[in-house]
Amino acid sequence: MYQNITLLGSTGSIGRQTLDVVRKLGIKVCALTANNSIKLLEEQAREFKPRAVCIADENKYLELKNNLADTDIKVLGGNDGILECAKLSESDVVVNAIVGIAGLRPTLEAISAKKDIALANKETLVTGGELVKKAIRENGVKLLPVDSEHSAIFQCLQGTPNGSLKKIILTASGGPFFGKTRDELENVTVKDALNHPNWSMGTKITIDSATMMNKGLEVIEACHLFSVGLEQIEVVVHRESIIHSMIELNDNAVIAQLGTADMRIPIQYAITYPERFESPAESLDFTTLRSLTFAKPDRKVFECLALCEEAFRQGGVMPTIANGANEAAVALFLEGKIGFLDIPKLIKKAMINIPNKQNINIDDVFNADKMARELVLKG
Ligand code: NAD
Ligand code: MG
Repeated sequence: MYQNITLLGSTGSIGRQTLDVVRKLGIKVCALTANNSIKLLEEQAREFKPRAVCIADENKYLELKNNLADTDIKVLGGNDGILECAKLSESDVVVNAIVGIAGLRPTLEAISAKKDIALANKETLVTGGELVKKAIRENGVKLLPVDSEHSAIFQCLQGTPNGSLKKIILTASGGPFFGKTRDELENVTVKDALNHPNWSMGTKITIDSATMMNKGLEVIEACHLFSVGLEQIEVVVHRESIIHSMIELNDNAVIAQLGTADMRIPIQYAITYPERFESPAESLDFTTLRSLTFAKPDRKVFECLALCEEAFRQGGVMPTIANGANEAAVALFLEGKIGFLDIPKLIKKAMINIPNKQNINIDDVFNADKMARELVLKG
């Protein structure tokens, strides 16, 4: 079990749940970071007494510094401050709970400082998959999944011999709009889209779940994490979110990981791996479970899933283009500026109009991201 953690994105949904786990395990927090929620970050800093905190929004830096002036906590600001936290010498693992491509550089920085990574920030692997894997190999660090499906797969794989994995069965809740037609999706509101049936999460991933972009991003995440091809991943809609994913082995045995829909289980496993400790999450009560259901995803209605698969097939910066267009489109949708079905439309437009590039470096990734965002903002 890790004893010293740095937590990036501590004020978000995953960040706060990570602190629940940390509080219960009684391990030391070295650094906490947030984008702009200085009040909560200050509260967290006073409770966990890290060596450093960082607020990415530089306009909030002086206020946070003043507010923590009576402590000996080092207060940092801006993206450079986040990178400084990511490589802090005291920590042995960095939990990355930042949302979006903003998490990519901090992940790479932590890896180059030889930190193990507990990764919730799936956009890190979607946009920088190959670069991150190369850095992991070169620095000999571990990459532990926090995303519930990927944690499930990782848990199922424990003790299976190398080469025995036939396929991954990635479960999806289907989100609030499962079973709807395209016509019915035309006029759904932000409020409808934020109404996820099983999970309480940050707004961006909640919209991604409604479009099934989230599952598309997770397909790419799984290909990178477990070194499998698209043909080895089957997405299955499982409305109850009790089975968090499954693996099928060469002999057709299927292994599943089940539990309540509580992210503190996968978060804790990433921190305590390979050990198991008591969790703040509820235990699963089978007597109250009526049924577990399974269905095929509809890639015609939920085009984002198919678009992500196509982006991964094309490789290079195409997954970054799809991701960047999605990040920008989701922000516009949340501001009420575009409709729900404009999200896949804009992703498709970006994928068609922005040229792909193979054999990429980090600058190529950020250029592609910028072009995709600009294209979406132009409409
Ligand atoms: P959130 O919006 O609730 O929290 C995001 C955190 O990142 C906040 O602390 C915010 O201050 C920080 N942040 C945002 N933009 C930043 C920037 N530009 N620079 C630095 N910090 C920034 O999001 P979340 O739901 O906790 O999700 C975090 C990540 O975990 C996402 O990649 C998401 O896909 C993934 N994830 C979330 C869940 C979940 O249940 N919430 C489940 C699986 C995976
Ligand atoms: Mg997930």
